[in-house]
Parts: sequence; structure tokens; C-alpha cells
Amino acid sequence: MKIADTVLDLIGDTPLVKLHKVTAGLTATVLVKLEYLNPGGSAKDRIAVRIIDAAEREGLLKPGGTIVEPTSGNTGVGLALVAQQRGYKCVFVLPDKVGEDKRNVLTAYGAEIVVTPTSVAPEDPESYYSVSDRLARDIPGAFKPNQYFNPNGPLSHYEKTGPEIWRDTDGTVTHFVAGVGTGGTITGTGRYLREVSNDAVRIIGADPEGSVYSGGTGRPYLVEGVGEDFWPGAYDPTVVHEVIAVSDADSFAMTRRLALEEGILVGGSSGMAVVAALRAAEKLGQGDTIVVLLPDGGRGYLGKIFNDGWMRSYGFSNAPAGHTVANLLE
Ligand code: PMP
Repeated sequence: MKIADTVLDLIGDTPLVKLHKVTAGLTATVLVKLEYLNPGGSAKDRIAVRIIDAAEREGLLKPGGTIVEPTSGNTGVGLALVAQQRGYKCVFVLPDKVGEDKRNVLTAYGAEIVVTPTSVAPEDPESYYSVSDRLARDIPGAFKPNQYFNPNGPLSHYEKTGPEIWRDTDGTVTHFVAGVGTGGTITGTGRYLREVSNDAVRIIGADPEGSVYSGGTGRPYLVEGVGEDFWPGAYDPTVVHEVIAVSDADSFAMTRRLALEEGILVGGSSGMAVVAALRAAEKLGQGDTIVVLLPDGGRGYLGKIFNDGWMRSYGFSNAPAGHTVANLLE
């Protein structure tokens, strides 16, 4: 029998799969790690469980406690899922630009959401940051995970994601590529892979053009979940050998190709990471094995990256359709 006791036991141990089509012309092996197969749909399930475990151990989170975090994305889903299973309440503070679908995922797990105006300065008492700080202070038994600075984020990847990649490639991995948001994934996974390989594995960050990790100032980009305009504590730049900047247009075109040509429906930061990996692979050869972490699935982006009208409205070209009914009837 193969039965998990609870859904939390299904976090991690995500599979690696080889890319075949988008790698045409390259000789290095490119493998992707499918984090959308986590129960909450992203790599963030991993950090959620590690952060909550540590908070329980340290007495920061007690039975009946409340988790308060300003997050609209995958971290919220991970925290909501773990909190639901462990009996904690969750309050997420979201800017009003966050769409209804994303809000509904959080409330589906039983979380409460507080919506704040996007158009106010960070120091304004109504801002996303001010409201979450106030709620964390005023709600009795509140705990704020603070994913950008919580060391348990990178540690979850050091203890699990890195060892999974080493084990599943039989130690043949030579390069690891991941997008950088909080920096937790690349810092923890990269640190483990460097240590276990006597510093032989090369660690490559992928970053949206304009973000600080690749030398920008934080100029806006559309790819979600990656890039920053400040330096989070979860990111250790000494782990990373190189950061490759990728445009929104290239990230989104590759995201569409992964679905159309590889059958892998993932988000824009995954497309971005694959673009960076393929650029690195141009200089590599047959003995090289690149592992690329794909953080989440594509379902959350159907109205954006996978929507022709949305793509056109930002001036991005659409990936060519595989076929049309008209040419099938010919
Ligand atoms: N892609 C997506 C879709 C994400 O939600 C995140 C997390 N912010 C990342 C990439 C980057 O991961 P990390 O925060 O560990 O750098």
C-alpha cells in the first residue's frame, strides 16, 4: 500500500524530467524539477512547513495561534495549507491589485484576507506593510513568518530540495538554475549542492531584467514571484556563481513553449529559469547535466501568459499555435 497519512506528507520529493524539444541543438542534458506537483502547487509548500515547524519549536506559535503575513502568492497558499492541517488561523494582507482567483485560493483553505490599497507609500498606515505589522502586533498569539528574512526558508531547500536533486541525478548534476525571489531556493539548494560536490556544481540565478540581483534598480517587470528592489536576508550572494537577466518577452515565450512542446504547464518564472538554463547550456557539452527548478504551475496564469489578448496588450508576441482546425481539415 502507498498511502500518505496527511497531505503534508506529500510535500517535496518532486520529480525530475528531461527536456527534449526546447533544447534542440544543445548537447548538455537539461532536467527540470516540477514543484507544481507539491500539494499546494508550488515550491513554497516546502518553506511553509519548515517555518511553521520551527516557530512551534521556538514557542513563537502556540495552539490556536494566528499566522499573519503580507503575501498574495504561493507562500500564502503553502502557509494556509499547513495552518489548516495544524489548526492555526491565517490572516494574509494583500494589495488590491491581486486578482480574485488568487484571493479565493487562500480563503478556500480557510484563511482570512485583508485588502490594502496599492497606491499608497510603504510608510502610510494603510499600506500593505503597515497593516500587516499592526495586525501581527495586535492579534493575540500572532506569528509573522517574514519569508524574506526567515532562515528556515533557505534551510528547507538545504535539507530537502538539494539532497533530492543530488540523489535523483546520482550525483551527476553539474549546474543548478533557479529564479531568485526571496532568494531562499537558490541559497539553500545551491549551498547544499556546492558542499556535497566539493564545490563542483555551478549555481546560476535567473532574474528579471531590471531587478537588483542582476544589477538593476527594481524597474518593474511582469514576471511574477521573482526579482526584487531590495536585498532580502534569505539571499546569500556568495552561494551564486552567476546571475542571468531575462526579459519578460523571452520568459513568457518560453513559458508557452514548455506547454506546447514539452507538455509542461508552468508559470512565468519557470519559463524565465529555462531561458537562463538554455543560455548557460550553449557553452556546455555532453558531460554536463543542468537541473532547473520550476517553482509553480501554469493554472494561475491562464488569464495572462496563456491569454493572447493579454500578451498582445503588452506587446508580446504569441507562441505559434500547434495547429488550427482549418489546416487539420485540409
Ligand atoms: N517563482 C515563483 C512563482 C515564486 O512564487 C517564487 C517565490 N517568491 C519564486 C519563483 C522564487 O523563489 P525564492 O523566493 O525561493 O527565491
